Amino acid sequence: MKVILIIYFIFIIKERRKTLGSFTDQKPRYATEKEINFNWGDAPKGKKFRCYLCGYRFKVGDYWRWVYSHRFINFLVCEKCDGEDVVERWISANEEAKERFWWLWERQFEN
Ligand SMILES: [Zn+2]
Repeated sequence: MKVILIIYFIFIIKERRKTLGSFTDQKPRYATEKEINFNWGDAPKGKKFRCYLCGYRFKVGDYWRWVYSHRFINFLVCEKCDGEDVVERWISANEEAKERFWWLWERQFEN
């Protein structure tokens, strides 16, 4: 089952590369109308096209960057939150969320 999921995610990333260009190169980008309305994370109309650290919802022309996290999920970051230590901050934010908001994450981290 896990292998099928991995193949599925590779397929999704390849399809997105075709649609949006290779955003997985982790280079800074500036939001386009297409990206704003794209079904990020399978949510309609760019509902998840937001900074994963501060929650900011990107608008056309905004700086954004896709970041490979090594741990937890890969994420998008805004200009304000981006920086050399963004991955470390992402990991601590996840650990803090698991600790502080355990009731919210209970199901997600059960396995
Ligand atoms: Zn942010």
